[in-house]
Amino acid sequence: TEALMRSVLNQFQQIVELGKNVPPEVVLNVTHIEDPGRLADMITPNLTLKVPDKQQILETASPRERLIKLTVMLQREVEILDVQRDIREKVEREMGETQKEFFLREQLKTIQQELGERDERGTEVEEYRSKIEEAGMTDEVKERAFKEVDRLEKMPFAAPEGVVIRTYLDWLVALPWSKATDERLDIKEAHRVLDEDHYGLAKVKDRILEFLAVRKLSGTLKGPILCFVGPPGVGKTSIGKSIARSLGRKFIRVSLGGVRDEAEIRGHRRTYIGALPGRIIQGIKQSGSNNPVFMLDEIDKIGQDFRGDPSAALLEALDPEQNGAFSDHYLEVPFDLSNVMFVTTANLLDPIPAALRDRMEVISFPGYTEEEKLEICKQFLVPKQMRDHGLLPPEAQEEAKEEAEVDETHPEVVVESAAPTQPTVDVPESNAPEVGHTESPYLMIQEDALQRIVREYTRESGVRNLEREVATVCRKVARKVAEGETERTTVTADAIPDYLGPKRYTWGLAEEQDEIGAATGLTWSEVGGDVIAIEVTLLRGQGKLTLTGQLGDVMKESAQAALSYCRSRAETLGLEDNFYRKLDIHIHVPAGAIPKDGPSAGITLATALASALSKRPVRRDVAMTGEITLRGRVLPIGGLKEKALAAHRAGIKTVIIPKENEKDLVEIPDKVKAEVEFKQVGHMDEVLEIALAPAPEATETEKRPKAKDRNPSLPAGLPA
Ligand code: ADP
Repeated sequence: TEALMRSVLNQFQQIVELGKNVPPEVVLNVTHIEDPGRLADMITPNLTLKVPDKQQILETASPRERLIKLTVMLQREVEILDVQRDIREKVEREMGETQKEFFLREQLKTIQQELGERDERGTEVEEYRSKIEEAGMTDEVKERAFKEVDRLEKMPFAAPEGVVIRTYLDWLVALPWSKATDERLDIKEAHRVLDEDHYGLAKVKDRILEFLAVRKLSGTLKGPILCFVGPPGVGKTSIGKSIARSLGRKFIRVSLGGVRDEAEIRGHRRTYIGALPGRIIQGIKQSGSNNPVFMLDEIDKIGQDFRGDPSAALLEALDPEQNGAFSDHYLEVPFDLSNVMFVTTANLLDPIPAALRDRMEVISFPGYTEEEKLEICKQFLVPKQMRDHGLLPPEAQEEAKEEAEVDETHPEVVVESAAPTQPTVDVPESNAPEVGHTESPYLMIQEDALQRIVREYTRESGVRNLEREVATVCRKVARKVAEGETERTTVTADAIPDYLGPKRYTWGLAEEQDEIGAATGLTWSEVGGDVIAIEVTLLRGQGKLTLTGQLGDVMKESAQAALSYCRSRAETLGLEDNFYRKLDIHIHVPAGAIPKDGPSAGITLATALASALSKRPVRRDVAMTGEITLRGRVLPIGGLKEKALAAHRAGIKTVIIPKENEKDLVEIPDKVKAEVEFKQVGHMDEVLEIALAPAPEATETEKRPKAKDRNPSLPAGLPA
């Protein structure tokens, strides 16, 4: 009985714990009851029992029997309550979440209402709809955009996907689908603008005007794309800006240098986080019109790797046959690029992928002569820098500011800085831009000072460094003015080192006198033409050929070819048959830190070598360029214009060029042709005839090693 009593009590407590509603005093009382019958009678009325069950317990007289029946019923009750609890918990869990959101939403609504932001959602969607209507999209695009708006509307307000859709819609409505600036294709006006912004470049301007004239007559932009090729700072970008200005179009410039990923051109798919359209569409959006002049800079610097081939995407954008429906991965709808005027720039033509090059009309900018640089400096760079440094009189400064605000991209205030008494270089009539006669009250840079900057502080094909140096002078003067020194500064040639420091280049010939074993070559790279010296030294040895100065494979092979040529000419050069067996030959090309390559140094290498071997000095005012074959034939080279300009800059008087480059001579400025003699050669023998001076008289015996020290097999004058 005792055990039964405990078990019943236990079960009763379990029931209470499971949530059965029992008055607390009952729970307390039953624990103190000692009589088994009474215990059963106290508990039974608190249970949810069916009437027959209650009757059964009532009819059982023995307390023990009563307790036994009760435990069975209690156990059933425990189980039922247990299941009930499970069900309740599950229901509560599910109800809880939806209800919570519901409550929060209702609260948010009330807060928004209180703040007066009622129904923001509705307004946002409506706004998108009206913007889409106004954006001038094609039906296809419009349909797509509306679909996105519908999706946005159905989404919970703060759903993360909503952000993606909003950004996408923002892009769609911001693009100039049918917004265009008025086109003005007046060739005369275009000519005027080009002349106003740029000195010289007559051929380039002609080509551009012809290009525009054809466009005007044919009434379409379909056709090749202009590609400006030339070293940095020769005005490629600024001519592009001028074209835009003369046509009344917007100007956009995008640099392609280092672009390797197709997605940079064509955009990322929207599935990527932070996806954006490619550079083309970004540029179009920035310009705000669908017919800008779009400059793709450094098209020769695009790369290609596992992320796809950007040039293929570019091709699609540039090709007039396809670009009516340019597809950007992000936009997913076609954009019409057929009204865009694409212009590309490059430093070199060769690295441009062939498929792209094919569709381009190349206009080359060879670089400037010293006189041209001076004129550009006087007419454009000095006034521009004065304006940028606030050195113009207040009215002119004000005017410049206004103009800059009207069109930021066209700094075109042109003022003459030189005093009227200054000697001026004649400017051909057609090139002379209209020049305002505003002088700076603070600064005057004399012409010979400018010339000194050109000669001693810059050595470049373009004028970028020149502009920088002029800016330095202006900056220093601006400081003086700002510090309260009001007197006008006149910068003379002698004062230039005070402003710019010691000179950086020696103007004129590189060598002081005709040298044995050193020849002057002409090179051409993406920064324009340059002059290099090639040095050869002979040492006693066993026929080893050493090449230093970071030469590329092609150049090393040229050196081998040059040596073979000299060996085959041993007799003419007055050498022993097997002279090379007793000699080590060291060829060096300064500057040693800069990698060099290319075949066009061939004849220079051979000349330096022949000079060292024959002891005949090379004329120091002769420079040369040309590839050499084993039998001494001279083959044509590229970049003659640039090389010719570099030779002229360096004060060279004679330039030896391959016969087959004769056709390129027409492109060389007359000024250069007047001062430099171009000798065309077909064979290395002719090169040596021109370049080598006769052997020095043997009077300087004291300079030579004593006879007994000399190895009779070595050419004269070799160090013992
Ligand atoms: P690039 O694009 O060829 O590297 P930029 O167009 O940037 O060169 O030219 C560099 C600077 O030289 C610009 O300030 C430009 O106005 C000036 N410039 C270059 N050529 C001329 C020229 N023929 N007449 C006037 N300014 C020039």
